[in-house]
Amino acid sequence: MSAFEDSAFDAHEKVVFCYDAITGLQAIIAIHSTALGPSAGGTRLWSYASSTEALHDALRLSQGMSYKNAMAGLKFGGGKGVIIKTPGYSGSAALYERYGEFVDQLGGAYVTAEDVGMTVEIMETIARKTLYVAGLSPVAGRAGGNPSPKTAYGIFKGIESAVQFKLGRNDVVDLTVAVQGVGQVGYYLCKYLHEAGAKLVVADIDAGRVRKVADEFGARSVSLEDILIQEVDVVAPCALGAILNAQSIPMLQTSIVGGGANNQLEAPDDGQRLHDAGILYAPDYVINGGGIINVACEYYGETTEDEVWQQVSVIGPRLTGIFEESVAGDKPTNVVADQQAKRIISAGV
Ligand code: NAD
Repeated sequence: MSAFEDSAFDAHEKVVFCYDAITGLQAIIAIHSTALGPSAGGTRLWSYASSTEALHDALRLSQGMSYKNAMAGLKFGGGKGVIIKTPGYSGSAALYERYGEFVDQLGGAYVTAEDVGMTVEIMETIARKTLYVAGLSPVAGRAGGNPSPKTAYGIFKGIESAVQFKLGRNDVVDLTVAVQGVGQVGYYLCKYLHEAGAKLVVADIDAGRVRKVADEFGARSVSLEDILIQEVDVVAPCALGAILNAQSIPMLQTSIVGGGANNQLEAPDDGQRLHDAGILYAPDYVINGGGIINVACEYYGETTEDEVWQQVSVIGPRLTGIFEESVAGDKPTNVVADQQAKRIISAGV
């Protein structure tokens, strides 16, 4: 296994391998940057084919968190934990407590929360051993709890900004949005769009979830294969990564792409492809930053629930700034976002 040579290493400050023979814990915590504050990013529980693959995932995700946190205007650097779901994984409370001890030993350089495979209950178990944790049960009136509605609201505000910028319209009334994946984020996005007067086309591998948005918001369902190629005003990917690529981009029939999924571009060049095709792409880690804003507000504990919604809504104007710079410099929006994030991180404020 090579860490320094990994394509996602990108000058990580620290990488910690956590092992505990008694509970069977195998975890990696990657701290990409603490320039803006403690590194923050969820812990992912996943079965990896090898520890090299787990390391690569931790590095890639923590680098992404640096950019996401910087662009969300947070006092957070970027970090990520992965717990390896080994064969015979116990998932015991003792294992999560041990992980909490490892997080605690970092003295606040890394703050954890939920990611794929984790729950509020697991975070509560981790919190028995460390204070450097968020995503816990909410205290009434304070920030916290399930971040998905906030993530979806930020995406909704981002779509409004993209519509304003690209189509010159101040609302989404009667515009059609294709939503790929109507899970936690996709469901709430459909709700906000429906309430604002948009029409919905949806697809999900889970038929029950499709039925729910059809019943509640009048969404029309299409096949998994066809959702991205609908003739619509906006495509909102809210399921998988790498769905924007050399094969899919030429088939898109939309003016705008903006959704919750992480790592939507299969490769950075796909941003150029969208730019060349005249499709306005809202960079994923900017438009989906509502959840981490919620986590930051919970962690710092200075914010009321109303103030969190307010902070999330700033994603709209933030994206407009990226769209303007993209047009002015004839550069893809993903490149503009990366440059802005790097500038914020190197300024350290
Ligand atoms: P989720 O698991 O609740 O929902 C994902 C949905 O996508 C599920 O309903 C699933 O059935 C569906 N799906 C899977 N494969 C599909 C396919 N091929 N075609 C159509 N649908 C498919 O997850 P979520 O929390 O809603 O997150 C959605 C995306 O947003 C993920 O990429 C996640 O990393 C990202 N994200 C989520 C948050 C958050 O606050 N939850 C924050 C930032 C980013």
